[in-house]
Amino acid sequence: MTYIPDSNRYFQMKYRRCGNSGIKLPLISLGLWQNFGKIDDLENCRDILHTAFDNGITHFDLANNYGPPPGAAEETFGKIFKEDFKYYRDELIISSKAGYTMWEGPYGDFGSKKYLVASLDQSLKRMGLEYVDIFYHHRPDPETPLEETMEALRLIVQQGKALYVGISNYNAQESEKAIEMLRQLGVPCLIHQARYSMFDRWVENGLLNVLEKEKVGCITFSSLAQGLLTNKYLNGIPEDSRIGRHLQNGAITESQVTEPILNKVKQLNEVAKNRNQSLAQMALAWILKDNRITSVILGASKIQQVKEGIEAIKNIGFTKEEADKIEFILHQ
Ligand code: NDP
Repeated sequence: MTYIPDSNRYFQMKYRRCGNSGIKLPLISLGLWQNFGKIDDLENCRDILHTAFDNGITHFDLANNYGPPPGAAEETFGKIFKEDFKYYRDELIISSKAGYTMWEGPYGDFGSKKYLVASLDQSLKRMGLEYVDIFYHHRPDPETPLEETMEALRLIVQQGKALYVGISNYNAQESEKAIEMLRQLGVPCLIHQARYSMFDRWVENGLLNVLEKEKVGCITFSSLAQGLLTNKYLNGIPEDSRIGRHLQNGAITESQVTEPILNKVKQLNEVAKNRNQSLAQMALAWILKDNRITSVILGASKIQQVKEGIEAIKNIGFTKEEADKIEFILHQ
């Protein structure tokens, strides 16, 4: 059946400007790191993408290595894009990245021009796209000169293969350098993609200040700590959960579900209930309360999770009492 998106989609979502660029991103974006591999059900992937777009999620985040196996998420997305989304290309912001191990030998990893250019060509083929909206360098490379990596991003934009570029997992100092270099090259850095959740707050120690000063957007990932910041692990480990599936691809494992963590999760769950939110919603709202964050990338294995996540945007304000209580719990 032909997919017809919900005509109310742009009334459900709010959008924030990304740095000082022309682009606005939805407060909630959708990430395809997990749940879109060869092992996953194609129709469920399709339903998740439909639900997201029907609710105004215009940004889908991918990378060369998302799967499993690496590359599979872009293939899954490419298939569904061709069948359902091709008429909506101009309503979508699609991103990809390169920086982690993708193929054998010295040219399939990190940050050389050779790797980045070849990898994006492969990504475009897998997704059946002529260009991506945002192309990221996925992680800093300790060996390749930053000049070369940034020059590769410039080239990719010049070639028309990406409209904007970004960096991911760069620390504050590295980001400052990369942003300045890109500015000199005439290709401004649109956005930084960083891990940020109530359980992982490294960006508060400098990075967010740099991005604010440089007027670069910030999009966060694993803001539910891969599912820990929900109520799903409070009564054991469900078989169909990210941990229960034993994915072995960088995903969270059972060893991270410790008593001290569960204790915090239980208390945070109570704070969320008092705000008439689920813990997942409160965890997303807690990130979005800071205007320096352009968008949160949500991961989802079920359409209900997308629907639940989107509702978070209805209440992203925190009273002083709620904010203090959360700080108290996190610092226990
Ligand atoms: P999250 O912290 O949002 O975790 C998503 C997982 O949490 C889901 O797959 C689901 O797991 C669970 N979940 C989501 N909503 C609910 C809910 N309402 N109730 C219960 N459980 C829920 O983020 P991810 O770690 O998945 O990262 C999001 C995206 O960020 C990625 O897809 C990717 O695009 C990007 N990313 C970027 C990285 C980078 O280096 N730049 C690194 C990692 C991610 P379950 O399977 O258990 O249902």
